[in-house]
Amino acid sequence: MKLAEELPITSDVFIRVAVDAPLHRFFDYRAPTALPAGTLVVVPLGRRRMVGVVIASGMPAEVDAARIRPIEQVLTDRPALAPSLMDLAAFCARYYHHPLGEILAAALPPRLRDAKPYRPATSYLTLTAAGRAALDRLPARAHARRRVLEWLAQRAGATREELRAALPTAPALVPQLEQLGWLARSAKQTPAAVADLPGPTLTPEQADAVRVLEAGLGRFTVYLLHGVTGSGKTEVYLRLLQRVLSQGRQGLVLVPEIALTPQFEAGMRARFPGRRVVSLHSALSEGARAENWLAAASADIVLGTRSAVFTPMPGLGLIVVDEEHDASFKQQEGLRYSARDLAVVRARQAGIPVVLGSATPSLESWQQAERGRYQRLSLRQRAVSGSLPPRARLLDLRREACADGLTATVREALQENFRAGRQSLVFINRRGYAPVLYCPACGFVLPCHRCTARLVWHRSSGRLKCHHCGHQEAVPAACPQCGQPELLPLGQGTQRVEEALASLMPRARIRRIDRDTMAGRAWARFGEAMRAGEIDVLVGTQMLAKGHDFPGLSLVVILDADGALYSPDFRAEERLFAQLLQVAGRAGRHGEAGEVLLQTAFPQHPLYAEWLAGDYAAFARRQLAERERLGLPPFVHQAVLRAEAPRMESALQFLARAASLVPRPQGVDMFAPAPAAMRKLAGLERAQLLVQASDRAALHRFLDAWRPVLETLRPQAARWHLEVDPLFS
Ligand code: ADP
Ligand code: ZN
Repeated sequence: MKLAEELPITSDVFIRVAVDAPLHRFFDYRAPTALPAGTLVVVPLGRRRMVGVVIASGMPAEVDAARIRPIEQVLTDRPALAPSLMDLAAFCARYYHHPLGEILAAALPPRLRDAKPYRPATSYLTLTAAGRAALDRLPARAHARRRVLEWLAQRAGATREELRAALPTAPALVPQLEQLGWLARSAKQTPAAVADLPGPTLTPEQADAVRVLEAGLGRFTVYLLHGVTGSGKTEVYLRLLQRVLSQGRQGLVLVPEIALTPQFEAGMRARFPGRRVVSLHSALSEGARAENWLAAASADIVLGTRSAVFTPMPGLGLIVVDEEHDASFKQQEGLRYSARDLAVVRARQAGIPVVLGSATPSLESWQQAERGRYQRLSLRQRAVSGSLPPRARLLDLRREACADGLTATVREALQENFRAGRQSLVFINRRGYAPVLYCPACGFVLPCHRCTARLVWHRSSGRLKCHHCGHQEAVPAACPQCGQPELLPLGQGTQRVEEALASLMPRARIRRIDRDTMAGRAWARFGEAMRAGEIDVLVGTQMLAKGHDFPGLSLVVILDADGALYSPDFRAEERLFAQLLQVAGRAGRHGEAGEVLLQTAFPQHPLYAEWLAGDYAAFARRQLAERERLGLPPFVHQAVLRAEAPRMESALQFLARAASLVPRPQGVDMFAPAPAAMRKLAGLERAQLLVQASDRAALHRFLDAWRPVLETLRPQAARWHLEVDPLFS
């Protein structure tokens, strides 16, 4: 082979490259010239070719210089990663103990981390004057054409990919519309004149918040905007964004759900005509994602879901994280990062403010505000005068007889609401469900005598197990507290609810919806059907996303909320409280008060009283006191080593080995290996080992020492990964 002749080594500049591989190390290559950090290159690795990112250039080689191979290519068809992005990725690598190369790859849209040449969009579709005029004259039935024209009317030109992402069938109409002279192609986007609209007069509370936030622009502060449902947090973001844009800077807005981006985007375009708003989320085609990612550098506002936190924005002046408590900001696979936490880090690195908004902040953020590290701003009143909070009631399952999981009160309320031509929502809370046994007579729930956790009932073995410490026992013959002979699993009977509803209201149009399966168009269609009154009863196994107004929805029924009160996951109550406040906010937002009915076997539980009073602060106080007493986050910092193997025994053995490898430093607690709450997934048994410390630095010093040692373990024994700040136990 004459490789050396084909690729002559002409220079002695060494560069250090991070590649997309699960390796905690970098590789050195030769390059024709020094390359700035962040440059994307193609390099040989073993027998593979890989895209990598230059992290240093011009240093002496770490290995024998003669053995260093040349790079194959500099990817000049895409910009180098900005220094700010490199800094964020470097933080991420240290904090999550994750390889830098994988982080940089995760930060890039798929098309740009590919060695294939990238051809940027060369033309933009724009609406012509004739197209604008046609909009007014189109016949009513020309829905499809109208949608395309209206969509383009709001934009300074869009690529085909963008159009396809928003309106999947639209590209087929383009040739026809071009022929009519309504659309044209141009090589550049032609922004309309900027004309930010004023928006409504702020409520006094909003005005106070905006005043504080505006005064804080230009320096790092974390604001926690705590505003009850309907208090107008969005308006506060818009005012602040407007100020940031008028200073010639950029705003980054992170939202938890893809389903929320079109709505937010439309609101921003309507408010800020002529501004460049770019959205970024995983439902976009790869082409559109790459285009938008590159366009973000010069955009005014970038709106996106969690991975958008990595978008390069050279003039960034503000970050907003809406619904900051939402678990979808946490990535659950690969690089397990929290976009909310990284938004705070990014704001600190850039010296700008970050606004975390929520009606039910995470207890982590609330505690930071209590300690004075985050600045809290409160909106206590609804922004629209005359909108009433719903009437909420508890129905005591120990007093009311139940048939197929529904009390008589609930049946009657549903039937009556249907007869009155109104819409109902039945919410079944099955998320994170783990069966525990309780006594229907006294409400007692079986605890683990070694832990503060509740015992989980395993149907197959008929035994009770603690998911925290691994303890097992037989199901007792009677309630240990009152002697009543029959213990029941909480949450039994939900499967029958849907059938029961159908036979209760045979003429009602019942629609089941699951948030996770509803992205983009499906979501929009469902919203239209709901608003058009084509659905009578909505059954949701997941909470409906916030921010959707359904004027006809006047009754909300909540079943199986109790499971969360006795879940082995200590965050289950926090999630339940957020969901309950949110779902209550869905009922009757216009004019009349809606009704919310919650069936429970534990009506005396303090969480329900706090919910009925709409008192998040009381909830947070009680929960934080309990967490502090039990030594749980946010009072300790956690990391978890998770292992999966075909047999539980191997996973547990792997973790036991891992635990024995290093001496445990003072101030770091390590628990015994235990089966995971979701014990089996995709045919593999899962176990975990929890490590925690009240001092974050101590935890990370330990992880720094531990991780390299873990890599020396036989990898075939189990698949494993380390997760910092786990959200689900
Ligand atoms: P949140 O996100 O805090 O639950 P929203 O931002 O959805 O609340 O606002 C609730 C409603 O109040 C929206 O319909 C919004 O248009 C309206 N709104 C917000 N601020 C004002 C205001 N200052 N004057 C009138 N209406 C407002
Ligand atoms: Zn236990």
